[in-house]
Amino acid sequence: MGSLAVRGLTARYDRTTALHGIDLELADGEFFVILGPSGAGKTTLLKSVAGLVDDTDGEIRIADRDMTGVEPYHRNVAMAFESYALYPQKTVRENLASPLRSGRSGTWTLGQQNERIEQVAGTLGIERLLERFPRELSNGQRQRTALGRVLVRPADVYLLDEPLSHLDAKLRAAMRAELKQLGEMVHTTTLYVTHDYQEALALGDRVGVLRDGRLVQVGTPEQVWTEPADTFVARAFGQPEMNLFDARVNGGIARTEGGRLTVGVPDGSGDRVRLGIRPRDLELVHDSGAAGLVLRGRITLTERLGRSVELSVDVGGDPVIAITTDQRAAEGDEVTLSVPWKLVHVFAAGEPGADTARLGSATSSSAETTAATGGTR
Ligand code: ADP
Repeated sequence: MGSLAVRGLTARYDRTTALHGIDLELADGEFFVILGPSGAGKTTLLKSVAGLVDDTDGEIRIADRDMTGVEPYHRNVAMAFESYALYPQKTVRENLASPLRSGRSGTWTLGQQNERIEQVAGTLGIERLLERFPRELSNGQRQRTALGRVLVRPADVYLLDEPLSHLDAKLRAAMRAELKQLGEMVHTTTLYVTHDYQEALALGDRVGVLRDGRLVQVGTPEQVWTEPADTFVARAFGQPEMNLFDARVNGGIARTEGGRLTVGVPDGSGDRVRLGIRPRDLELVHDSGAAGLVLRGRITLTERLGRSVELSVDVGGDPVIAITTDQRAAEGDEVTLSVPWKLVHVFAAGEPGADTARLGSATSSSAETTAATGGTR
């Protein structure tokens, strides 16, 4: 086991600088997830740690050892690539044994090999499949075996590149839960790459969001979800994406074009902001006394998503997406939506398409505060 520290890491290919000065510290045994869209530099980060990128600057320390000039073979990391390969002519047991026979992680007696294989197979739930061949396995079992080939080798750091990407949605969800347990059981420092935000939130002790070769935010799942550093992170987590509205600020009060989204904004917000509300944070309410921001509008479209329904609501000209479990919601209905103030995010204004920093949460607009408190004082 070991910690991992990356300092000022820049990685280049011939024509591309894929990483720009990455700083990252993983505690011993931490399960750290890197989330980012395709091309963000996720794989390059793993490969750099493994020593597989030639042109890098900066420092990488594994288990407190400087890796500068250390060949991949001697770094004591185990890396799984997206495209797992199993030896088709070998059984699951033999597939799991081959990393132990490479000599790379010391010499293992046959007894020790089998003990380790059975331990890892037990953790992955494939202990009864050890004598089968890959062709006799389901997709999910094959993927587990492939993962087993990585985990069987004791290493300071595991580097996992989208290990669940080839599974269908149902199996992914099941494997996600198992991987979480596995991480807790194996307790080896792990850098895990994904483009799936649910995976990141479910698995990570912490999550780092990568964009264009830069880490935009590092934090616990709770932090990146509740206090996204900017609109990029805000949109990266959640499906459908966070609603964003341009608003003008006057006297500390932001108002959207349609005028029904009216909220207090943090001091120093400037004369324009963006307001962000996650579709799932909006609740369909039937009385108008709800706390927080209350929006009235008309449903223009409904889309059933299994147990929940996605609503497109026209709020005085501002299009709002909300997710509800209320199956009665129908197109044309006038509805009231509410969201607690702290779940209305305030971001800096910016050019269309450009991401901007989060300034804080909205507060009650003073007019409403006066109205709300006026009668009781
Ligand atoms: P991700 O894993 O997030 O999809 P990558 O790390 O694979 O991103 O790629 C980051 C950037 O580096 C991309 O612009 C990609 O085109 C480029 N890149 C990746 N691998 C190579 C390579 N072997 N040669 C040249 N450019 C590469």
